[in-house]
Amino acid sequence: MIIKELKQAYYCMWCGSTFDTSPENVECPVCHRTCWRALGRYVLRNQHWVQIIKISSADVIGKMRNGSLWFQSPQSFQKYSGEGQKARADAYDSRFSYINKSRYVEDQNSDTYRLLCFYSLIVNEDGDFLERPDKRLGEFGDRYSIVDITTLLTLIKEHIVEPNKKISSVANWINYLRENYSGVYSPFCKFPKFRYQNEFRIVLWSNLFFSLRAEPYKPRLPAKGLYDVFSEPRPLDELMHARSLEDL
Ligand SMILES: [Zn+2]
Repeated sequence: MIIKELKQAYYCMWCGSTFDTSPENVECPVCHRTCWRALGRYVLRNQHWVQIIKISSADVIGKMRNGSLWFQSPQSFQKYSGEGQKARADAYDSRFSYINKSRYVEDQNSDTYRLLCFYSLIVNEDGDFLERPDKRLGEFGDRYSIVDITTLLTLIKEHIVEPNKKISSVANWINYLRENYSGVYSPFCKFPKFRYQNEFRIVLWSNLFFSLRAEPYKPRLPAKGLYDVFSEPRPLDELMHARSLEDL
């Protein structure tokens, strides 16, 4: 992981792009959202040193491998009360555009977002884990699958974003905020109690999703492509006891 010192840098709270001059009230040239935060110092994660993992049930991972991706609504996480509630439920997920101690500004576009979430395993150049996966990840399911995220993002671009000009997408790591954080807020913001999830997420947004209300968006992608993107599901215990990518 590279730690880069930047003075007066501006960071896009959606896609993570950084710029030296203030883009205030101007769309991010990369993701076209307007959601900036001034930064003094930031951590740049090199994608080659992170392995994206999906943790879920064998059934769900099996369906993904067969071409069925479910992008969940923010509402489904805000109101989640089923199995794994502690890890999955987040009343703040994608809900605000700005927060401070006394003011929480609701994001009026929240229902236009759909989310697909992953765990990211941080490793060194040799593939050794820099931190052990947290036991609480078991709340998401008892199987894990290794994800070829580069190919997945290409498939989403080719089969969801490009054929349907009304759907946009951004993928990035979650910004884990300080407890007393105040400032702009996006679907890529979470509070520190979720930090152990090291979450990477893909956010789609479109006015087409308004009518789905709390329902997921369920595009079909070519099974042939997704079968190779998601490795065969393995027991999560194996990931919990591994020390290096070589052990998986
Ligand atoms: Zn951006």
